[in-house]
Amino acid sequence: MSFDLTDAKGAMTGQRYIESLRDGREVWLDGERVHDVTTHPAFSGMVQEMARIYDLQHTDKLRDAMTFESTETGNRISYSYSLPTTREELIARKRNSEIWMQESFGQLGRTPDFCSAVVCGWYDVRDELDKLAPRLAGNAVNFHRFCAENDIALTHAIGDPQVDRTSVTQGENVAPDNPWVGVGGYSLENPDDDMATALKVTKEVTGGIVLKGAKQLATLAPLANECLVYLSATFAGRSQNEYVQWFSIPMNTPGLVTLCREPLSQNPGSYGHPFSHRFDEQDAMMYFNDVFVPWDRVMMLYNSDAAARLLGRVNVLAGYSSNIRLYERIRTFVGVVTLLAEANEIDEVRDVRDKLGELVSYAEMVRLAIRGMDADAALTPGGVMVPGDGFALGIFAAQISKRVLDIAQQVGGLELLSQPSEKDLANPELRPYLDKLIGSGDTSATAQRVRLFRLAYDLCISTFATRQEVYEYWHRGDVTRNRSNLYGRYDRGQVMERIKKLISEPM
Ligand SMILES: Cc1cc2nc3c(=O)[nH]c(=O)nc-3n(C[C@H](O)[C@H](O)[C@H](O)COP(=O)(O)OP(=O)(O)OC[C@H]3O[C@@H](n4cnc5c(N)ncnc54)[C@H](O)[C@@H]3O)c2cc1C
Repeated sequence: MSFDLTDAKGAMTGQRYIESLRDGREVWLDGERVHDVTTHPAFSGMVQEMARIYDLQHTDKLRDAMTFESTETGNRISYSYSLPTTREELIARKRNSEIWMQESFGQLGRTPDFCSAVVCGWYDVRDELDKLAPRLAGNAVNFHRFCAENDIALTHAIGDPQVDRTSVTQGENVAPDNPWVGVGGYSLENPDDDMATALKVTKEVTGGIVLKGAKQLATLAPLANECLVYLSATFAGRSQNEYVQWFSIPMNTPGLVTLCREPLSQNPGSYGHPFSHRFDEQDAMMYFNDVFVPWDRVMMLYNSDAAARLLGRVNVLAGYSSNIRLYERIRTFVGVVTLLAEANEIDEVRDVRDKLGELVSYAEMVRLAIRGMDADAALTPGGVMVPGDGFALGIFAAQISKRVLDIAQQVGGLELLSQPSEKDLANPELRPYLDKLIGSGDTSATAQRVRLFRLAYDLCISTFATRQEVYEYWHRGDVTRNRSNLYGRYDRGQVMERIKKLISEPM
């Protein structure tokens, strides 16, 4: 029985996390199979950082903020898997997210509280799953318990490969009976998708299903314990049922192939790139080569209508985590850009303060929006307390994703690019010049300044910075579709009536 809790160890430790990744998974990078992701230079910085934050769960300072006692096993388990039933419990869950986001400076999209929220979402819709097939509700409940009691780190893969989008309608429909916002619209008219590549069930066998095909994209995949598979708003509407699946499998499942993109992690060392080295969470293509998925890991199958209808409820807590990350990311920009301005003594210049104020205005808008979501929190029919609708905030995040980089670049200027290397600084022949140029003769000021500008480079002009920006823009799905759907479902009838009334009579 795969969900037996006998050996469940509760909240993850750093060491347990590292060991859990040495499981024979099939990870490919730059044409080569990676035999140990924990020591490979493309991943080790990120692995160490995840391990460090997992260890915080066991410190006197943060244990109570990050974990709580399981009523079933007595283990301390992570708030990432909590199922809040009151507003206070929702805020306790939020506090754990805030710690993860602060510790990672808002740079990680797949902190463990993100995909865990989807598992909570599957739990939340268990009654709906029960109506589709009786065993599915039990699967969702058991899988949630298993993940919570073992603090499983998850990725998710919810889209088709980007090969041919002509057959994918962008689904500007919204389910008429779906009050659970936070998901885009969907279409049930999608004809064939990309038959050559999209993941599908090829056969049912004793004990489960067999799948073949690809999913794009899965952030954290080589560094996760399991991969959740379901369908995003763009792909939930299918005319062929074998393309509709919700399930989870361990990353070392035979036939599951993880194909990594070029790494962004670079230059460790005392003058290295602190963000790209620590927070390159990797985005990978997943290929399923006749992968067997046991029935108890299947949460839903073959039902396009349910996949679309329930998606908003499944995603709602994950969206909350994204918004908390967004807030910390913008706060990081506020901090770094202010330090850049101070370093160049331009922080009192009116134009610069205008830009800094713009950044602060974004941080404040996100903070206030999250408070609004907290205030609008409500119980779902499944009995879980979830925040109010944050869909528009996701669109706002995409709209400002480039702008925050622009501001940092405009305030930082040329020095963002022109920092000396560690070897330059270590060279006794060069160092006196560099101390004069950079530190005005003060050696420690040189070191501090170089590190600041290197960090700013990571944040706003490196390849890592662009990946972060692209993530912010895309990860909540197609922005064009999202805006169109937001417009479509926004209640504008009353204000339109008032205006019509006003213009129906002469002034
Ligand atoms: C850094 C990063 C990390 C990510 N991490 C994950 C992850 O962990 N898990 C996951 O599942 N996904 C992940 N994604 C994928 C993400 O969800 C998608 O990028 C997003 O949903 C948009 O899909 P797409 O990239 O396939 O773009 P497309 O859907 O192909 O859209 C590209 C452009 O084409 C237009 N377009 C597409 N189809 C049509 C059509 N039929 N008619 C008209 N216009 C069309 C769109 O409007 C858009 O302008 C990640 C993406 C990025 C960039």
